Amino acid sequence: MSQQSGERITYALGSIRVPDHPIIPFIEGDGIGPDIWRATQRVVDAALKKSYGGAREIVWKEVLAGEKAFRATGEWLPQATLDALSEYKVGIKGPLTTPVGGGIRSLNVTIRQELDLYACVRPVRYIAGVPSPMKEPEHVDMVIFRENTEDVYAGIEWASDSPEAVKLIQFLNGELNRQVNIHAGIGIKPITPKGSERLIRRAIQYAVNHHRRSVTLMHKGNIMKFTEGAFRDWGYALAAREFGDVVVTEDALYQEYDGKLPEGKILLKDRIADITFQQVLLRPREFDVIACPNLNGDYLSDALAAQVGGVGMAPGSNISDEVAVFEATHGTAPKYADLDKVNPSSLILSAIMMLEHLGWDDAAENIRRGLDGAIGKKVVTYDLARQTAGAREVKTSEFASAIIDEL
Ligand code: NAP
Repeated sequence: MSQQSGERITYALGSIRVPDHPIIPFIEGDGIGPDIWRATQRVVDAALKKSYGGAREIVWKEVLAGEKAFRATGEWLPQATLDALSEYKVGIKGPLTTPVGGGIRSLNVTIRQELDLYACVRPVRYIAGVPSPMKEPEHVDMVIFRENTEDVYAGIEWASDSPEAVKLIQFLNGELNRQVNIHAGIGIKPITPKGSERLIRRAIQYAVNHHRRSVTLMHKGNIMKFTEGAFRDWGYALAAREFGDVVVTEDALYQEYDGKLPEGKILLKDRIADITFQQVLLRPREFDVIACPNLNGDYLSDALAAQVGGVGMAPGSNISDEVAVFEATHGTAPKYADLDKVNPSSLILSAIMMLEHLGWDDAAENIRRGLDGAIGKKVVTYDLARQTAGAREVKTSEFASAIIDEL
């Protein structure tokens, strides 16, 4: 289908409006990006054909970022790419090299900040047959909502002995009666009511929409009371204000419901970050949706991904109220570039999330079945093959074909 015949995705009264032939920008990515993107696009197009027989199709629009953009335009992240993601509302991307030395520090962080993609959403779900360090990985089924714009990621920091750090320390010690060592490096951790509330609102709304049983606010509020502790407090207050009819706190669960969550209600609880890392391993069934500040979410995302087979098997998205960018969660693995070798599952699972975001659940479910089917038959790429007895190792493109055969 030609690009002219596609239409834009729009929003009306806060709801997404998806035409039958939406134009969706994609960033192929660097390193292994082209290999996994080709596989993903083939799988998505085949699933759409199978599910809708041509009535719904994506009109793909390539936009440039990373090395390909630099070669073509002299810029790592052209404004036209940001404009396209903003205009077409939904995009998908492969991994991008972080240019070494000067200029932009991370293209991924820049995309998130420029488009105010405030929630990083990472579902973590086990696919039968994937090698896992867990005894019962099938109990892992969680969705992390990580705040994406604040916290120590705000990039407000100064080196030890820099004039800025010295000035700030003198202020802290003089005006606010602290005893900070004058040679300390200094970082600032801003966490706001607005940033916390919009993230937590999104997490609870997700739990409501997807019939999840609990939302856990994960924080380190026992130590960082006015940032992480406040994140928790703002979360409980928001839930009481906006979701009072569906949310039950742990206190209420025991005082009013005898410890049994009524059907259709969502349990809202909070856990301190350190014990959360233990409990997601020992009692994964107690966790469902988890909302957390930026740095906690960064650590937790990869730790949880390990439980279901590693970052090669973990999808992700970065979303604002209107724009959503779906992405592979691993990097560009440059040593495997153009070898048709690596596992495209992370990007394919991200495409499944994208289809669900569009409301095209049949196609999403179809791909999930295809992926389950290929992995269930032990037809897998090198990374899974090396850990799976009796596996048949296939190339990236062959893995995509195996999924398409199972659609
Ligand atoms: P990486 O690219 O994720 O690769 C690390 C290792 O993970 C690979 O050597 C490989 O392990 C395994 N791996 C990654 N993707 C795989 C896949 N699709 N299938 C199978 N195995 C896979 O991490 P990195 O080497 O630290 O980073 C390389 C570049 O990527 C850097 O420029 C970094 O900045 C960038 N990066 C980008 C993003 C992003 O765009 N979102 C995220 C992270 C890093 P084996 O060697 O064991 O086979």
